[in-house]
Amino acid sequence: MSPPATTADEVDLLIGRMKTAAAPVREILREIHARYADNDEGKVADYIPELAKADRRRFGITIATVDGQVIDVGDCSQLFTIQSISKPFVYGLALEDHGLEHVLSKVGVEPTGEAFNSIVLDEKSNRPFNPMVNAGAIATADLVAGRDFPERVSRMLAMFGAYCGRPMYIDNSVFMSERLTGHRNRAIGHLMLNFGMVSDRIQDSLELYFQQCSVLVSCRDLAVMGATLAGGGVNPLTKQRAIQQPYVKYLLSVMHSCGMYDYAGEWAFRVGIPSKSGVGGGIVGVVPGQFGIGIYSPPLDAKGNSVRGILACQELSERFGLHAFESGYSGPVLRDLFSPTRST
Ligand code: GLN
Repeated sequence: MSPPATTADEVDLLIGRMKTAAAPVREILREIHARYADNDEGKVADYIPELAKADRRRFGITIATVDGQVIDVGDCSQLFTIQSISKPFVYGLALEDHGLEHVLSKVGVEPTGEAFNSIVLDEKSNRPFNPMVNAGAIATADLVAGRDFPERVSRMLAMFGAYCGRPMYIDNSVFMSERLTGHRNRAIGHLMLNFGMVSDRIQDSLELYFQQCSVLVSCRDLAVMGATLAGGGVNPLTKQRAIQQPYVKYLLSVMHSCGMYDYAGEWAFRVGIPSKSGVGGGIVGVVPGQFGIGIYSPPLDAKGNSVRGILACQELSERFGLHAFESGYSGPVLRDLFSPTRST
């Protein structure tokens, strides 16, 4: 049975109002997109051979608010592999599976200042420094619970599905490519096995890590994942809880201090938005209580961060006072340019 006409009219009116109200935000994103779209600096990652196939011109910016408004500009539905952006989210799954203290006994929370794939463990505890570098992420993947490997993989995919509000898929070519060439990550896994920091199912855990890095997302998905964290763990579109609220602050903390590779300190200083980047060209940023930002642009700088992504986030942060430690700010507020929160 079709709904009464008035309901459809009301919905049209609401969508129309939302479009008008969000128009200033769309204009701002268009302006930022246009400013950096022609920047041709950076290099598409090729150390995982399959990643080299990415189109360097692609560029998308999405903002998703905690009340479910989504503004896209550019290539926002193009799928690419999540890569290191998977790390904080899988860390969340490990926290839910084992609790904070156990996870902390296996993976620290200190920034390294080293490249993401450095082979270095804390001298005293033999722990990897943090869950955002490969060593810590592999130890974190080792903590993902499940009776067997398929169950661990499906729990990981279901977790991403809750954040994105859709079924998730793995890019098999990227997975195979990383699996064939991932000797350094295997070395890191075996070094940790030597120190008793990971379980003897480390082979499976490395496979799980390669799979989590090969999950396909769009920059719109990244923004919704960011908005889910910004809203305390509940997906703003589906209203499904993706992570228990008390853990959200731990994910954001490691993103803030360690999320942008060996640029994390300067990022925290200049941009001040807890974020995570991946070598596929994605960045997710979280403005707690307000919105998530998703960016996609494959060319990377020498540290592995998306060149256009950095510029766009820096401009958003500066223009709208989004730095976490901004105080006494009196400039324009991005949140005010969205339509008012819908009450349902
Ligand atoms: N899968 C990649 C690796 O392990 C992820 C790295 C990244 O995005 N920085 O090398």
